[in-house]
Amino acid sequence: MAMTSGSILMVVAPSGAGKSSLVNGLLERDPSIVLSISCTTREPRPGEVDAEHYRFVSKEAFKAMRDNNELLEWAEVHGNFYGTPRDRIEQATQNGHDVLLEIDWQGARQIKKHYPDAIGIFILPPSIEALETRLKKRGQDAPQVITKRLLAAGGEMSHASECQYVIINQEFSTALNQLSHIVESARLRYPAQATRHAELFSQLGISPTKS
Ligand code: GDP
Ligand code: ADP
Ligand code: 5GP
Repeated sequence: MAMTSGSILMVVAPSGAGKSSLVNGLLERDPSIVLSISCTTREPRPGEVDAEHYRFVSKEAFKAMRDNNELLEWAEVHGNFYGTPRDRIEQATQNGHDVLLEIDWQGARQIKKHYPDAIGIFILPPSIEALETRLKKRGQDAPQVITKRLLAAGGEMSHASECQYVIINQEFSTALNQLSHIVESARLRYPAQATRHAELFSQLGISPTKS
């Protein structure tokens, strides 16, 4: 089990619930948060940039990374492989940065095993109809891909109870504020504060570890 001074925040949601929009909004407000860039074997969507949205890799390259223990977790989602590169997360948390991961429930479970303090945030759509409308409106996936993702939404949402926090993404600005508040409260957790303010804790004679 690994201890970190930066928080690990996992944003989990069915496709189309608004994960990426909310995460982008959060990063605009707070550029100090490090975003984990996943590897994926899926094709880039129009406008997606390699090494920015994902590292787009072949199945062979993905397997090589997995076998070389370069991935902290990996999972098959909607028929493609996705994985979280280990190096960026380890480096960032050791330096006290907060790291944000956009991953599916299978990945969130694996991360929790490595980092029990990792925080899960589940994003729910206000309704199934809204989810469908958003996936269609985004207009970046083929109709059969959209159908596949809608069919998978119930399965993904059945794992919402594994997350500590739930945000219902109805009004975007409200949901974004709520996400910011979760990040802020994560930063105020005892171990994070004790590491960040080690000198003050020592001067005040306060324990560096939570009882
Ligand atoms: P989106 O659902 O519209 O964001 O579509 P994506 O194709 O970007 O992501 C598909 C699924 O893969 C989502 O459930 C993501 O959370 C998940 N995912 C993305 N990256 C990773 C990763 O590195 N590891 C795991 N386990 N899941 C990932
Ligand atoms: P995900 O990353 O979870 O698949 P996206 O962030 O790509 O979801 O959002 C899916 C679509 O829904 C996008 O077109 C986005 O602009 C739109 N969207 C996100 N949040 C809201 C909201 N609160 N109200 C209306 N549309 C939204
Ligand atoms: P999309 O292909 O729409 O970008 O993502 C599809 C799903 O894959 C989303 O639910 C997303 O959260 C998940 N996903 C993206 N990156 C990762 C990752 O690194 N690990 C895991 N486990 N899932 C991921």
